[in-house]
Amino acid sequence: MGICCKKKGDNDFDQESVNEFVDKHEDNPLGIKLSFHDFEKLKVLGKGSFGEVLLVKLKANNKYYAMKILIKKQVKLRHQEVHTKAERDLMVKINCPFIVNIKFAFQDSVKLYIITEFMQGGEMFFHLHKEKKFSNEKTRFYVIEMVLAIEFLHKNKMLYRDLKPENIMVDASGHIKLTDFGLSKMIKKQKEKAFTICGTPQYLAPEILSDEGYDNSVDWWSLGCVMYEMLVGKAPFRIPKGSYLSADLYKKKITIPEYVTPEAKDLITQLLVPNPKKRLGYGVDGSKKIKEHCYFKGINWEDAWNQKLTPPFIPELKGETDLSYFDKMFTNEKIEGSKVSEAPASIANSEYKGFTYVTDSVSTELMDMRKAEENN
Ligand code: ATP
Ligand code: MG
Repeated sequence: MGICCKKKGDNDFDQESVNEFVDKHEDNPLGIKLSFHDFEKLKVLGKGSFGEVLLVKLKANNKYYAMKILIKKQVKLRHQEVHTKAERDLMVKINCPFIVNIKFAFQDSVKLYIITEFMQGGEMFFHLHKEKKFSNEKTRFYVIEMVLAIEFLHKNKMLYRDLKPENIMVDASGHIKLTDFGLSKMIKKQKEKAFTICGTPQYLAPEILSDEGYDNSVDWWSLGCVMYEMLVGKAPFRIPKGSYLSADLYKKKITIPEYVTPEAKDLITQLLVPNPKKRLGYGVDGSKKIKEHCYFKGINWEDAWNQKLTPPFIPELKGETDLSYFDKMFTNEKIEGSKVSEAPASIANSEYKGFTYVTDSVSTELMDMRKAEENN
């Protein structure tokens, strides 16, 4: 998750629409409750601002998942309860091939747990860092899938607000999915404006720093930044750590190297227009205009949606727990020694009422496992 600073009077959290999901997922229909004990903890995959992400195995079905653990106290200290709850609610609502799928969510007295599908190909950041930059073909494939993910979110009245290489995950087949909905926001109407200063400085659209509010065009700006970084090997706007963020930082003319194709150059330039109303992608049908850009000439968007385009890179994996694409800094860490130790299970905290979520298929597997345990 990137930075977030709520402005006075900003209605960033839409309680009504979140309640809808809370009611639906308060408890799963079969009444199965999951806990930390139902999982075997295998490795640390990554760390975030509020906790860490582990590779785990659900004992009931022997399947592997990623478990994001958030420590309630830290979430509270940073006034992020609302965003954390929204993260879980958004992820439950979303069903898109380019967005990491949530499988379960539960809590104990100390921590919140969000369990998602395990993206074995690692972060886009890992690959970009290793290769320095990508070819035009490779970049195009990833940009196509990002366009579809963002378009899907906007059509479902959500702003993503944190598109960056660290939040783009590669799956075992080489397709990508967005993760980390900690800064996302549900809106009522596609034209509704947001005011919270949110995002990661390097990828932040300038209007986020203004007082006039912003809309979903901010995600298209970030796409321009990520596309530039993939082709050039560095982000277009370098924001020194600790510098005072102002819209002027993003207004400087960016230089695009000669080797970038004219089509790619044109798309980046149109996405990185500081005035959101003049930026490609602005408005309700904005994604349509992006998809029609000459950079995507010849692309069958339906095939792309159905993940029928051939990924430019397929992770070489030796098994389901091969962690070659994860930073050793995390995977070598002992789970016992990490920040996350088991917390005593207790009754749900009312602050996070409705956090628990279990998909139906897994509920059945859990029921079988519990029955087997009883019979032994
Ligand atoms: P940050 O503040 O660094 O962005 P965060 O608190 O928002 O972190 P996430 O971005 O959700 O947390 O997760 C942190 C890291 O854990 C990811 O960047 C990634 O390396 C790893 N990770 C998260 N989800 C998965 C997943 N489904 N499969 C594999 N690894 C994952
Ligand atoms: Mg993240």
